[in-house]
Amino acid sequence: MEKTKGQILRDQLTWNFPHIGKEAPEQKEEAARFCEGYKEFLDKGKTERECVTQAVAMLEAAGYTPFDSQCTYKAGDKVYLVNRKKSILVTTFGTEPLEKGIRINGAHIDSPRLDLKPNPVYEKSDLAYFKTHYYGGIRKYQWATIPLAIHGVVVKKDGEIVSITIGEEAGDPVFCISDLLPHLAAEQNKRSLAEGIKGEELNVIIGSVPYVDEEEIKEPVKLLALQILNEKYGITEKDFLRAEIELVPAQKAVDIGLDRSLIGAYGQDDRVCAYTALMAEIDTKNPVYTTVTILTDKEEIGSEGNTGLNSDYVLHYIEDLADMAGAAVRKVLKNSICLSSDVNAAYDPTFAQVFEERNASYLNKGCVLTKYTGARGKSGSNDASAETMAKVIAMMEEEGVYWQIGELGAVDIGGGGTIAKFVAHMDVDVVDLGVPVLSMHAPFEITSKLDVYNTYKAFKAFYK
Ligand code: MN
Ligand code: MN
Repeated sequence: MEKTKGQILRDQLTWNFPHIGKEAPEQKEEAARFCEGYKEFLDKGKTERECVTQAVAMLEAAGYTPFDSQCTYKAGDKVYLVNRKKSILVTTFGTEPLEKGIRINGAHIDSPRLDLKPNPVYEKSDLAYFKTHYYGGIRKYQWATIPLAIHGVVVKKDGEIVSITIGEEAGDPVFCISDLLPHLAAEQNKRSLAEGIKGEELNVIIGSVPYVDEEEIKEPVKLLALQILNEKYGITEKDFLRAEIELVPAQKAVDIGLDRSLIGAYGQDDRVCAYTALMAEIDTKNPVYTTVTILTDKEEIGSEGNTGLNSDYVLHYIEDLADMAGAAVRKVLKNSICLSSDVNAAYDPTFAQVFEERNASYLNKGCVLTKYTGARGKSGSNDASAETMAKVIAMMEEEGVYWQIGELGAVDIGGGGTIAKFVAHMDVDVVDLGVPVLSMHAPFEITSKLDVYNTYKAFKAFYK
């Protein structure tokens, strides 16, 4: 049937973001293949340190060498620099002079979790526990009654660094926070959801039987737990004071749905952007502009600390690049463009009221370009310019990337931030781009394979 004049006009003047599964069903297979590597990355990297270790292995395998500011590099050379084992900078040198600007892509590799307190081990009523202090924005009730794994490092008195991982291998024990049975939860049920489980109730069970060699020994259940740790790792209670140990969901990354179109896993905010950024960096062979791929730490607690973006470590790296090229760093920065690559909230039909449907991002409509984040009138937001939006949209459309726009929820419902404002602080044009996520910050977050794949494609287009 021929289109009416009105239909033709409508086609010309209105715009809707397509569903990839309808428009490009052939991508389903490519996306699924790409996401097998992603799931492996998630399972091997449940802390920022583990993600850096994995990134280094992937980069070395792809021919990258450690950055040396005394070296001279030519177009096509590939280097990386690790910052304190928790963040990493990766570069492929471009053909254009540095003063024409660089292409920066920054994602974060820290995720919400439960950190051990400095003095974590205690015994109460014949059970041994770890005390925890949560890291990042969690909904505490979600972390009870799920299997947890321990990941971390201990720096012993003699300087030896011991890595600890328990709960990941088949046959490993896991750890757990208990909750009340419904029969006895009448009072607890009156609490607000935010207080359903309180911070000081996030206590992790680590043992229940005593050390039995002697009578009358103090806190024998705790003692047995410490003895087991000592035999396995050579540590004592005092060593927890020199440690960073985290409890994370023991669950591995899995497919969700009969059609296997979705991925369920811990830590997808923001390892989904970290993995896609890293893969795009590795697959970029002879870029026009020099790339700087950043996998950073501490985003979930405000980008603070010297491994977070609110420190000058990225600036110092770019200064080194500029010095080597005899370029003025100010010019390099002013002419650069950055993707602050982070996830956004996917529209959730069950909780539709917190979204504004015309400006929400949706599963399976591609990566989401987020002009602004923030709260209460964009406060704390970078708010990318129309010019920056235009540049990034053009790069994506030239390469046939499926993308969409998205706000982080309806106006005045809540809000959040990313690393974008810290990049902008260096006088760099920056905009947020990433993957829509359901149940963000939950122990088990959901993304779409098609979105993950198109985010990788967007990052590749950005580095082209
Ligand atoms: Mn994030
Ligand atoms: Mn987050």
